[in-house]
Amino acid sequence: TNRKSVTVMGLGPMGQAMAGVFLESGYAVTVWNRTASKADELVAKGAIRASTVDEALAANELVILSLTGYEVMYAILEPSSANLSGKVLVNLSSDTPEKVRKAAKWLADRGARHVTGGVQVPPSGIGKPGSYTYYSGPREVFEAHRETLEVLTGTDYRGEDPGLAMLYYQIQMDIFWTSMLSYLHALAVANANGITAEQFLPYASSTLSSLPKFVEFYTPRLDEDKHPGDVDRLAMGLASVEHVVHTTEDAGIDATLPAAVLEIFKRGMKNGYAGDSFTSLIEIIKNPVR
Ligand code: NDP
Repeated sequence: TNRKSVTVMGLGPMGQAMAGVFLESGYAVTVWNRTASKADELVAKGAIRASTVDEALAANELVILSLTGYEVMYAILEPSSANLSGKVLVNLSSDTPEKVRKAAKWLADRGARHVTGGVQVPPSGIGKPGSYTYYSGPREVFEAHRETLEVLTGTDYRGEDPGLAMLYYQIQMDIFWTSMLSYLHALAVANANGITAEQFLPYASSTLSSLPKFVEFYTPRLDEDKHPGDVDRLAMGLASVEHVVHTTEDAGIDATLPAAVLEIFKRGMKNGYAGDSFTSLIEIIKNPVR
């Protein structure tokens, strides 16, 4: 038959969503998971259960991995090393760019090709418009399977270096986690003062949605390593961060997060950036030993 087919290994919430969307799109889907019962629902919907890793690999050239991290990939594939030759592994597990580069080499040494993916949506976004995934690795391998991958999400191919998709993923997570923690921190201060999350919502949203304008404004200056103090000065920023720390302490709230920000501002002051923009702090961040 000409039916399109794919193997999905790893059936956590993400892998289950992916296998489900492939089934709905008419693909023949072979599934494997360490805890076999997680495949039951998919098998009831028509997926083919592979009872071993070797069976899962043998079923298709294209094998999608959705695992907790890259260590799990070795745990699963190492015993089946002899059966990797000729396979295309699209690894949609999250990890560091360095681990991804090593894994791509490990697979290449066994005759397999590796495409890295960094999924930008939760399982509920799989198969939905507007979702996307960063990809990197050999362009012709990505292009050969693009249509299948686009069943899951939109694709954003970042380049040949296998680490790139994960690098883009991690720099987004860097923003996401520190921003969300800053939101939780501000909410804790608000709560301590009798303000609910509901009451805080329009104010939190307003500040968060003002950030792109700042990022755009500072982008050309950052690319030119120029940090003039014409619109903001580090000394002014320092006073502002101190006020945040003191407001936090007065509320009896943990001050670890703003105290870390304050520490970086103080190092900027010590390095003579008082009259420069707060963006000069990127020099402090890039040179951690000063
Ligand atoms: P889970 O951690 O729930 O899925 C883990 C999968 O890895 C399961 O199939 C699990 O098998 C398997 N696994 C873990 N350890 C081992 C092991 N030692 N040997 C064999 N199998 C193992 O993750 P998700 O499904 O939520 O996500 C999968 C990937 O997608 C992750 O890398 C995650 O970072 C990424 N991602 C997730 C998002 C989300 O919102 N969930 C969003 C974007 C990316 P078992 O069932 O047997 O435990």
